[in-house]
Amino acid sequence: MSLHTSLKVGGPADLFAIPEDVEDLKVLLSWLGEQNIPCLTIGRGYNLLVRDKGIRGAVISLERLNRISSVNGSRVKAEAGAENLAVVRFAQQLGLGGIGFISGIPGSIGGAIKMNAGAYGEGILERTERLTLLREGNIYDFRMEELEYGYRHLKLQADDIILSALFKLEEREAHQTEEEIRKDSDLRRSKHNVGYPSAGSFFKNPHGQAAWRLIDAAGMRGECVGGAQASEVHSNFLVNTGGASTQDFLLLAERIINTVYATSGVTLEEEVRIVGEI
Ligand SMILES: Cc1cc2nc3c(=O)[nH]c(=O)nc-3n(C[C@H](O)[C@H](O)[C@H](O)COP(=O)(O)OP(=O)(O)OC[C@H]3O[C@@H](n4cnc5c(N)ncnc54)[C@H](O)[C@@H]3O)c2cc1C
Repeated sequence: MSLHTSLKVGGPADLFAIPEDVEDLKVLLSWLGEQNIPCLTIGRGYNLLVRDKGIRGAVISLERLNRISSVNGSRVKAEAGAENLAVVRFAQQLGLGGIGFISGIPGSIGGAIKMNAGAYGEGILERTERLTLLREGNIYDFRMEELEYGYRHLKLQADDIILSALFKLEEREAHQTEEEIRKDSDLRRSKHNVGYPSAGSFFKNPHGQAAWRLIDAAGMRGECVGGAQASEVHSNFLVNTGGASTQDFLLLAERIINTVYATSGVTLEEEVRIVGEI
């Protein structure tokens, strides 16, 4: 899985499947069900920390389900495997906007929806009108009002697979979106250029506080365990400086959580999804 995650760590999965389309996915799921093989659906692995022993069961990548289409002129529908920037660009060509803040967030729509990815105080689910899910072999269409979600969180059933999302957008001139994309990219280049593989922010920001400030106040900026380090550039980015194992990241995260708690009384919670055999 180190080949499929931005942190470049993690042992192997028993199976790695890339279905061609929804029908193919359904056939795969029914076969996995018959064999009693558990599965995990992933996007592009930008927010995943896979344990060193790997994943017992199948990992499903929806990278080939990546169609983007226009609906009624004011909506854009994107399949789970579409990349965030591609969706922003598609909307831009239609003179629509409002989701420019996801343009620089690496990953796919499935991952962005599951994480309620966001930036500058906005989350993707606030711009989402409907979600299409595959649940126990059947396809369901949900309005967002029917689902529970919040900061970096969407409550789904454990085996739900996000198939696509419908975004509500507003009219926006192409050059305005271009400006949003450029500003975002400049900001990320100056603040997030950590020089090593990362998963972006490792910890969620506790309510009303910035995780990086708490990590700095605890003296943890630059802290290392093996090849894992709390980045010198952005202390909430835990980076792989070379040869790190997942165990290094887990020990470093534990040390940061304990030290931040001791200095500030705040318990940091991981934003990255930790998966795989313990
Ligand atoms: C340099 C850098 C900067 C970043 N900046 C930001 C930022 O500004 N804001 C932000 O929110 N995040 C940021 N991130 C984190 C990451 O990009 C986001 O969380 C992104 O949405 C993950 O998408 P992904 O496709 O890689 O999902 P993955 O990491 O593959 O998966 C994330 C979770 O979603 C689940 N999942 C994925 N697809 C599906 C599906 N179709 N159905 C069901 N479950 C699914 C996975 O099982 C996993 O639990 C950053 C990461 C990096 C490396």
